[in-house]
Amino acid sequence: MAWQTIKSGKWLLIAVSLFLLLLVLSPTPVGASALSTGEEMAVDEAYALIPTSIQMVDEAITVLSQGWTGMSVDEQQLFRELFDPGETGEIDDRFISDSLENFRRIRRRFDEELAIHPGRDMDMCITNRLLYTDYSHIFVCPYYNQEDDASRKARMLVHELAHFTLWARDRHYYQPRTYSARYAALTPRGPRLAQLPVLGPIFREIAAADTLYHPDAYAWFAAEVFELPG
Ligand SMILES: [Zn+2]
Repeated sequence: MAWQTIKSGKWLLIAVSLFLLLLVLSPTPVGASALSTGEEMAVDEAYALIPTSIQMVDEAITVLSQGWTGMSVDEQQLFRELFDPGETGEIDDRFISDSLENFRRIRRRFDEELAIHPGRDMDMCITNRLLYTDYSHIFVCPYYNQEDDASRKARMLVHELAHFTLWARDRHYYQPRTYSARYAALTPRGPRLAQLPVLGPIFREIAAADTLYHPDAYAWFAAEVFELPG
């Protein structure tokens, strides 16, 4: 009898532990509380703009697939402005193919199920920020509903996806048609240490001085190349 009690007590303990473990392991209940109308609108629109972001990335892939010499002068100019802003001349065939591969990785990420939630972290939703990411989900800030530039919304989705596809943090943001010495200081591959095998990626993220892993370079190139005539 005593053995039975001990045995069932043991199983109860195991069941409770398993339950607690599942609770701990289950994803953060982001959408646990009800969405407000504004949040629902923003999340719905963010989902609806996924095809536009995909078109932008597809266009970038089409353009880069032609290789440097196959690109038009405007496409080359745009690529240089974003990926070699300091005109180091480091853009070669290998760089084109590395950035193309990163675009393809971002594109593949769009094929996986994207989780978009209302963004309630007001430390993240500063000023006119539209989206942020925890490197696995996308969060939509309250300002999203006030922004009527759909292109910016689609571009920012590419930016956030680039963050967690490339596992990269922000370098200095790009400002179109505005010279920025800090953006111009970025180089295609960053410091030499960033190119070391194995430890390179750690140095690269510490320095954050390259464009090859800069989410904004990908987002802006995709958005702007999509707008180019022809
Ligand atoms: Zn960012």
